[in-house]
Amino acid sequence: MIVGRYAPSPSGRMHLGNIGCCLLAWLSAKSKGGKIVLRIEDLDAARCPRAYADLLEQDLAWLGLAPDEGGSAGGPNGPYYQSECTELYQAAFDDLKSRGLVYPCFCTRSQLNAAVAPHGEDGHVVYPGTCLKLTPEEVAARAAKQAPAWRLRVPNSSIVYIDGHMGRYSQQMATECGDFIIRRADGVFAYQLAVVVDDGRMGVTEVVRGMDLRSSTPRQAWIYGLLGLTPPQFFHAPMLLAPDGRRLSKRDGDVSLETLQKRYTPEQIIGKLAYLYNLQDDDEPRTPQDLLKVFSWQRIPTWDLTLPPDLF
Ligand code: GLU
Repeated sequence: MIVGRYAPSPSGRMHLGNIGCCLLAWLSAKSKGGKIVLRIEDLDAARCPRAYADLLEQDLAWLGLAPDEGGSAGGPNGPYYQSECTELYQAAFDDLKSRGLVYPCFCTRSQLNAAVAPHGEDGHVVYPGTCLKLTPEEVAARAAKQAPAWRLRVPNSSIVYIDGHMGRYSQQMATECGDFIIRRADGVFAYQLAVVVDDGRMGVTEVVRGMDLRSSTPRQAWIYGLLGLTPPQFFHAPMLLAPDGRRLSKRDGDVSLETLQKRYTPEQIIGKLAYLYNLQDDDEPRTPQDLLKVFSWQRIPTWDLTLPPDLF
């Protein structure tokens, strides 16, 4: 059984980019007779209050994209809110730590930005390994004053995966990624670890998400392997751009669902997105169900898509 998922971080109302990803995840799973799980990625609980998650569920139902499992409806693979999963992340972290795969890091963000280090594809600093050189005594002395973040060691080799939509993707882990944080200094587990633990235990077999997360896939593939889990198939979808070329963000209230709902029916929004994704030749109203007949990843462009002014 194909198990797809939505994994939103509800820090505000959905925008068209989020809706587009949910539509593609839904079509990809449902066109193969699969199901969709909703997991709320509220690791940063202060930024993702429960009210936003509840609103997101209403919005998905309004769009005709209600999930089959998870969210407030629960299901057999709960918890479905990352804010409730700390013990599960802790267990995975302890496992990696007991195998000597993680080490404490006391570097601050400003120290890292100041260090002469190459930047990875998504702009993150490739960690130069500073704290790896600390002796146990130095670690103990520093830890007495300051709680460390924890980094996962990466291999000095390339990780390659085949994206179901974008094809082969390769990253040299030591030079393009670097040892990365899986637990922050404030004790919050990082997205990279949480997403793997959760997709693994929820039996997710395919992940559909925006191209902005493609470069984090090798990190996740590495964690899958270390935890003895089979990675899902990844499909990275085109980003939707504002007419002026910038990427959408939740701060752009003008393309949030709140605004769109005042102007359009759900079928109009789905139809316009389907046109943008090359799933139909006009932007006439459609339901997600209507699109099942025509959906194929081959039709979806592999480049960023600019929203037409009427959708913005
Ligand atoms: N929670 C992430 C986001 O909203 C998505 C994570 C994922 O799809 O892997 O950007």
